Amino acid sequence: MIEVEEATRKLMAKARPLGAEEVPVLKALGRVLREDIASPFPIPPFSKSAMDGYAVRAVDVAAASEESPVELRVLEDVPAGKVGRHRVTKGTAARIMTGAPIPPGADAIVMVEYTERTSGGVRIIQQAPKGKHVAPAGEDVRKGQRVLRQGAVIRAAEMGMIASTGRSKVKVGIKPKVRVISTGSEVLAPGKELKPGHIYDSNGYSLTGLAATRGAEAKFLGIAPDRKGALERKIKSAGDFDVLILSGGVSVGDYDFVQDSLLELGVKRLFYKVRMKPGKPVFAGLEGRRYVLGLPGNPVSCMVTFELFVRPLLDVMLGKKEPGPRRGSACLAEGKKLKPGRRKFLRGRLHETEGHLYVRLSTDQESGILRSMVESDVLVDVPGETDRVEAGSMMDIIYLE
Ligand code: AMP
Ligand code: MG
Repeated sequence: MIEVEEATRKLMAKARPLGAEEVPVLKALGRVLREDIASPFPIPPFSKSAMDGYAVRAVDVAAASEESPVELRVLEDVPAGKVGRHRVTKGTAARIMTGAPIPPGADAIVMVEYTERTSGGVRIIQQAPKGKHVAPAGEDVRKGQRVLRQGAVIRAAEMGMIASTGRSKVKVGIKPKVRVISTGSEVLAPGKELKPGHIYDSNGYSLTGLAATRGAEAKFLGIAPDRKGALERKIKSAGDFDVLILSGGVSVGDYDFVQDSLLELGVKRLFYKVRMKPGKPVFAGLEGRRYVLGLPGNPVSCMVTFELFVRPLLDVMLGKKEPGPRRGSACLAEGKKLKPGRRKFLRGRLHETEGHLYVRLSTDQESGILRSMVESDVLVDVPGETDRVEAGSMMDIIYLE
């Protein structure tokens, strides 16, 4: 049996980013950026008006007020999308709309609210200092400035930023192909009639969901019974994959064939059994460059071991800058007595009270209680020797997100 850190090290030692592909920016949400994004031009590309009003020379309106308005001759209208043809010179102005380029000669905008149109011109009733309501070229991004780094996850803001550099396509990490198999002769596909001694498959669903959530192209391959031949046929049916995940059948029961079958099929073992609770019977192996994991059958154990081992693996394959899961700390809301032994990953839920982050442990911490995962948003990482955690103590947490 090995510690979580050592298991993680063994697993990650050979993990490498998969290739990259180009996708439309509109399809890039949640994907991992695999190139740096710099703008070949300033954003905005030209100095523009931030208001509807008049483009003026600040010196011309320096003395303007309600009592002594300044009258200017209006040269032309400059709506958004048009470029003014006339230079604003002493005593003149241009009607301008938000988003339109500042005409040459002008250096300030007077909001329309501080103006009155006259027959040949405009009366200005408020002064405007140089630069007033002018969005200068490059105020968002300078020419050549790098705005995004590879390894970042593309969210809505990143989509907009990439688009504003003129790109309609972007290079992202190829989604790892994850294949999921449930094992157990008692495990029944939902939708079928429940039979005595059977339970519905939950692992196939939660693992496929987790893999998809973490950026994989996830496919559930179904359930294999606890018979060696049938199990091996199911494993062979996985076809092309980057990560194959089996749940159940990896312990020491008389019908637990997963490890033997995988080894016989040529999978090289990286580790088996990790000193953790929930978890313990976890198998990890490599078949060439492809990873094969046998996770414990208990619904909580398989989800927790996925988060600890499969998630960082997928993150590296995707090319993420900071492989997850994200860690943090929170104050324990209520104490709990624990059985010392293996390192524990307790399920908990965060809440904030007076600016402090608290975590409340799920009441039922058995590894078969899937409800505890539904109720939780973090794992609380507790050292093995701990026999009691006290209310008010700071705990290491792992975000499930
Ligand atoms: P095992 O790891 O195969 O010994 O299974 C441990 C426990 O998890 C047993 O109670 C199984 O019935 C249960 N279990 C195994 N696979 C699944 C599954 N796919 N969905 C729900 N429970 C499962
Ligand atoms: Mg089983």
